[in-house]
Amino acid sequence: MDAKAEIPTNTPVLDGWFTLDAREPHLLGARCTACGTYYFPKQIKFCRHPDCAGEAFEEVQLSRKGRIWSYTNAVYKPPEPYISNDPFVPYAIAAVELEQERMIVLGQVASGVGVEALKVGMEVELILEPLDDGKLSWKWKPLAEAAR
Ligand SMILES: [Zn+2]
Repeated sequence: MDAKAEIPTNTPVLDGWFTLDAREPHLLGARCTACGTYYFPKQIKFCRHPDCAGEAFEEVQLSRKGRIWSYTNAVYKPPEPYISNDPFVPYAIAAVELEQERMIVLGQVASGVGVEALKVGMEVELILEPLDDGKLSWKWKPLAEAAR
């Protein structure tokens, strides 16, 4: 059995922000029932669409795929209370435009994938990986990497 395919913990870093399906996780967003605008995170009280007075939202599973809109490298250790490995291992952060909703969602890039492997427009999918503190978070994984 491939140990890397196993997820060591299923404690999410944030409750209710994503499903805990190890194979096909989804971010959980909100959709305005009046105009259909999507939001993430889903904690929202009124619709921000300028032409909509909607105040009712339904929870939706957002697209698992999208394209890189922008990205950067986190080379400095984040401040407490973020728990980092020692020594700190830099990681990439990507802003991804979701396939269906066309909204931008930030996330870390899958471990082992550095900024040098990323390009604007590259297709990525959502995966769950533990952060340095062992809790699960969503990350973006390039699909070209997965096909190799
Ligand atoms: Zn609305």
